[in-house]
Amino acid sequence: RLILGIESSCDETGVALVRVRDAKARPELLAQALHSQIAMHQAYGGVVPELASRDHIRRVLPLTQAVLQQAGVALSALDLVAFTRGPGLAGALLVGAGVACAMGAALDLPVLGVHHLEGHLLSPFLGADPPEFPFVALLVSGGHTQLMRVDAVGSYELLGETVDDAAGEAFDKSAKLLGLPYPGGPALARLAEGGRAEAFKLPRPLLHSGTLDFSFAGLKTAVLTQARKLGEDLPAHTADLAASTQAAIVEVLVKKSLAALQQSGLRRLVVAGGVGANARLRAQLDAACAARGLRVHYPELHLCTDNGAMIAMAAAMRVQAGLARPTRDYAFDVLPRWSLQDIAA
Ligand code: ATP
Ligand code: MG
Ligand code: FE
Repeated sequence: RLILGIESSCDETGVALVRVRDAKARPELLAQALHSQIAMHQAYGGVVPELASRDHIRRVLPLTQAVLQQAGVALSALDLVAFTRGPGLAGALLVGAGVACAMGAALDLPVLGVHHLEGHLLSPFLGADPPEFPFVALLVSGGHTQLMRVDAVGSYELLGETVDDAAGEAFDKSAKLLGLPYPGGPALARLAEGGRAEAFKLPRPLLHSGTLDFSFAGLKTAVLTQARKLGEDLPAHTADLAASTQAAIVEVLVKKSLAALQQSGLRRLVVAGGVGANARLRAQLDAACAARGLRVHYPELHLCTDNGAMIAMAAAMRVQAGLARPTRDYAFDVLPRWSLQDIAA
């Protein structure tokens, strides 16, 4: 069976093709293509929803053709078209959903709406070192920061989450304060390489709260206060401030992940989402888990941020688990706000 996956929830258009050989074997990624709108949105300092939708329209068919060509697969050979149904920007989601359902109608194929966060969560299964269930998942993206207990595909128990900003948002907003271009996360991480993590004392909110919740909104205020205090001297200290900001975010993510592992008694951690690409986070999680005899799994670096492969993979794994309900009803809708726990039957 061949599953086409289309991602268009935010500022990346992603298309990918996954093959499911049988009910047991891990689905294989045959081809994928991605177009990032980062350069287009950079002038505005963030994603402009209307521009995002329009660009998805321009990109999605050429990307689909590229993927089919790469894989040497004809359109007529597809068995299922999966798309991101939410959460995300409504107009952007509608493009992927509309195209997927139009393809379904034209080719008489079933379609399946996929949860974007389930895509992130299952993205490590695309790599060379796929995890086994059960595990604790640390989902750290631009819009979400959650710890979950994952017992199987479709079984996602929320253990804790951010009460305000997401970790990616904390990176992005702090980066903006330091004058870095959107999206700030990777830029801040790069700048931090030349700085000292202990240079500035920044808060670690909720670190000792005893819960598995996070709070990052106070951090950007602390960064702003620090930047104002430095005044004209800020340019000489941006690397130190970036390093200290990154250290604060990473320390909280690592400590809460370890606490979640300890409380749940599970011995495996899976990291997913854009912030999962962060080198300091990976190094500290690797060290902490190795010291405790715990395993940690990541998506491949290029699959941490949004992509079509994770959407095709999530669809494939739901189909294999018998959880998917592909449909020939092409009257699609999208769910801009949609909690992952709401799909766990
Ligand atoms: P969501 O998945 O919650 O809807 P999203 O799709 O915008 O949000 P992702 O694509 O998973 O989020 O990740 C983007 C986020 O990851 C951005 O906030 C970006 O700054 C951050 N990010 C990417 N690379 C790094 C890095 N190396 N270090 C820190 N943050 C990073
Ligand atoms: Mg993005
Ligand atoms: Fe995402």
